[in-house]
Amino acid sequence: MRKGLLFIISGPAGSGKGTVVNRLLSAHPELKLSISATTRQPRPGEVDGVHYYYISKDEFEERIASGKMLEYTTYSGNYYGTPEKEVRQALENGQDIILEIEVDGAMQIKERIEGAVAIMLTPPNSQVLEARLRGRGTETDEVIKWRLARAKEEVKLLPKYDYLVINEDNRSDECAQMVYSIILAEHQKSIHNRSIIEKFI
Ligand code: 5GP
Repeated sequence: MRKGLLFIISGPAGSGKGTVVNRLLSAHPELKLSISATTRQPRPGEVDGVHYYYISKDEFEERIASGKMLEYTTYSGNYYGTPEKEVRQALENGQDIILEIEVDGAMQIKERIEGAVAIMLTPPNSQVLEARLRGRGTETDEVIKWRLARAKEEVKLLPKYDYLVINEDNRSDECAQMVYSIILAEHQKSIHNRSIIEKFI
């Protein structure tokens, strides 16, 4: 059976990746989103086991020590990581899997999973990014400044990504379609279709 492919979607806070990923998953329910573990507190409306697995710092460190994390990082003072078993099982079962993670984790995955495809989503420019971060109205000035600085650092890693998708204001649907086109194209790569040749010879 054909194995699944792994797609990383990352981009700075304010890139709109959450909305794009939601649109992608509702249009293509056959895609599976990997649920990360985190030590940060749930935000209002977030559900354990749906948005994240919310675990303690001790529990997270125990999982790192026992090799259960495919990748992990610290972001804004909290741990975030991808549970390895679920991802590997999905891929073995032929399921495509989406990881919505930041750049440090993305680079770890690129090293560990052969053929992982990294897609960076960005706002069109830093002015739009700042307007989006301020528009949320949920963060302090200090946090916004930290996120902006971090966003600039993240975008510098673009050359290490396979694809760039620019998320203009109010264009999440188009972005989700663009990401899906990338998924379709990756499946057509000859390297993933070697077994077809055997049917001809
Ligand atoms: P938030 O707290 O806003 O949900 O997420 C903060 C950042 O952590 C986002 O950039 C998000 O993509 C990233 N993130 C979420 N889960 C993971 C994960 O499992 N690993 C890594 N490396 N980053 C993650």
